Amino acid sequence: MNKISKVLIANRGEIALRIIRACKELEITSVAIFSEVDVEGVWVRKADECYPIMGDVIKAYLDYEVIISIAKKANCDAIHPGYGFLSENADFAKACEENGIIFIGPKPEHIALFGDKMASKVAMKKVGVPVLEGTDEPIINVKEGEKIASQIGFPVIIKAAFGGGGRGMRIVKNKKDFVEMFESATNEAKKYFGRGEVFIEKYVENPRHIEIQIIADKYGNVLHLGERDCSIQRRHQKVIEIAPSPRLNNTARKELYRIATKAMFKLGYESVGTIEFLLDEDDNIYFIEMNTRVQVEHPVTEIISGIDIIQRMIQIAEGDKLQLLQEEIQFRGYAIEFRINAENPQKNFMPSTGTIKKYLTPGGPGVRLDTSAYTGYKVPANYDSMIGKLIVWSLDWQGAVKKAKRALDEYYIEGFPTNISLHREIVRDEDFIAGNFNTNYLDKKMQIFK
Ligand code: ADP
Repeated sequence: MNKISKVLIANRGEIALRIIRACKELEITSVAIFSEVDVEGVWVRKADECYPIMGDVIKAYLDYEVIISIAKKANCDAIHPGYGFLSENADFAKACEENGIIFIGPKPEHIALFGDKMASKVAMKKVGVPVLEGTDEPIINVKEGEKIASQIGFPVIIKAAFGGGGRGMRIVKNKKDFVEMFESATNEAKKYFGRGEVFIEKYVENPRHIEIQIIADKYGNVLHLGERDCSIQRRHQKVIEIAPSPRLNNTARKELYRIATKAMFKLGYESVGTIEFLLDEDDNIYFIEMNTRVQVEHPVTEIISGIDIIQRMIQIAEGDKLQLLQEEIQFRGYAIEFRINAENPQKNFMPSTGTIKKYLTPGGPGVRLDTSAYTGYKVPANYDSMIGKLIVWSLDWQGAVKKAKRALDEYYIEGFPTNISLHREIVRDEDFIAGNFNTNYLDKKMQIFK
């Protein structure tokens, strides 16, 4: 046991606030950092201590040498990276260790392994996880890529090996489109990730995106916290997440739990993590990637399981044993999370900025709001457009949908456009209500939604 008494939060926005809340309940001192545009951030005010990082406002949350030096100066014994920024940077995790600071997350070698989508497919296949047919090596030559794609059989998907957030990804329906798609995927990968390596895999038609939340301690105890259905996506980016999946048969569900926990046990994984799968129309299961961090959508799992994922993450990093058996984890009801983004529905959901002039938040039974927004909050243009998450819970699916309608109607933000109006349409859509959706649902519905 290596009791943690002071944590630096290497992040901003709602997740920084979420981690501070976990620290408070664990009676751990919290330390916030902030860039020049984030001086007024709620997390800055709620943390026990705060330190500015001057200069480039994006680099502020990425410059790990500066962050580690602040942690040392402030006598922090641990750093929580949140999601995004440094959360999946193996070098950062290693640098923390080398500086005697606990990195609240998995081992650097696991971060590195799963940061490479191709390598992780190979590793997962070895421990019995079904993967999609595809290439194990980056495709450099476009002609070679075209040949491999033809062997796999169209449609295929070209993906950035070191990508994320739906970027650097292209679906290729026919051979004639391959060259163009290959080039645009490579260019986008280079632009966003600084690495242009791409790989090819079979494209699954109309899949559901189902992911399994794992928690694992340092002693080989691996548990799952059920699944999340993240099929409601726009351009391969999650918009709404649901736990449990409203339309997953129990055989497939049990198989997902079995595969995921077994793989993590065999790989000696520790901390929290999410294994993402696609399920085709016949419920065949395919691994796509693993996220070695706390995810945006973790609250839906917390709500149905009653387990505080961030607190567990901290306790695991301290060396605590999971004093919990799989049978003791009970899932209750349905939780739905809506990502609230500052974006303009009238302008193809381009990020919007501005200051919140009037602000009314939803509340009441079964409503959780994780946000860093408030009256007077100015959305900086420098970061992700997500300003918070509205999460609702009810004992049954229909109840959760009704709760969502009510809570979304209560949410009022004046000052800039948001995607709340889109969420209101989705929860009134008969296919959504019937649980009848796959990853193409939203892109298709966008044509009929106002
Ligand atoms: P990212 O890391 O960029 O989020 P993922 O590999 O997690 O990329 O995939 C994101 C989404 O892209 C999936 O949820 C799914 O909608 C789509 N996708 C990815 N791979 C495939 C595939 N082989 N077939 C069909 N859709 C896919």
